[in-house]
Amino acid sequence: MFTLPPGPMTWPSFEFHDFISSPPEAAAVQPGNKNRRRNTSLLIRYAHPDGRRRHIVIDAGKFFYHSALQWFPYFGVRELDAVIITHSHADAIGGLDDLRDWTNNIQESIDVYTSQRDFEVMKKTHYYIVDSSSIVKGTAVSDIEFRIISETQPFFVHGLQVTPLPVWHGAGYKSLGFRVGNLCYISDVSEIPADTYRLLENCMMHLMDHDKVNMELRLLLESEGLDVQLSYDGLRIPLPLAVNPPQLALANDLSPRDR
Ligand SMILES: [Zn+2]
Repeated sequence: MFTLPPGPMTWPSFEFHDFISSPPEAAAVQPGNKNRRRNTSLLIRYAHPDGRRRHIVIDAGKFFYHSALQWFPYFGVRELDAVIITHSHADAIGGLDDLRDWTNNIQESIDVYTSQRDFEVMKKTHYYIVDSSSIVKGTAVSDIEFRIISETQPFFVHGLQVTPLPVWHGAGYKSLGFRVGNLCYISDVSEIPADTYRLLENCMMHLMDHDKVNMELRLLLESEGLDVQLSYDGLRIPLPLAVNPPQLALANDLSPRDR
């Protein structure tokens, strides 16, 4: 188990205002430099026992389209089997609209796993996707099957167990991280509640951004036994995942369609 400082934390990050105010020689504005990011997102690719590879995305933020355009062809990703939502801010759901390019051209629909709380927000921000009867006939919008998850219960996506990791994302606002195997993904967090700490045992942890902090993080391997790296846009991490086909029925029970 690793420890983090108590109270609110600030992850080092390059925000847009840093980007546009940086001098041309700054790392953040150099093409291809890793010390830059779009919205935080994760693509989980794994081999299902049925022989078909699955692709699950966590979060489709407002730069999702640009990231997909760059990285999906590179990694040979075409169909999306599911999208899991951490919270309902624009950096996590701003790209739901862009999923229309998948559901218009590649597949019939996409399952989006979300908490009831975030779904309530999407009913307002993406009302035309939640209830497509409200749009002009023939208009193409993303065809999404919303699946409501419990924030306190593991759920299954195509046989893969996903455990929600509720965290504070600023005062009074909760966001979800997710654990898949020994990978814990927490994108927006100011404080980790004690109950969630317990779910992080033996987790791999990656913080966002790069270079300068990376060297300091290597010291954690000696002091905490923690192998921590900074991630960057396009980072690929191979890891073992247990996929459990019999749980597919359970997954559907836990995630009723709600639209
Ligand atoms: Zn947020």
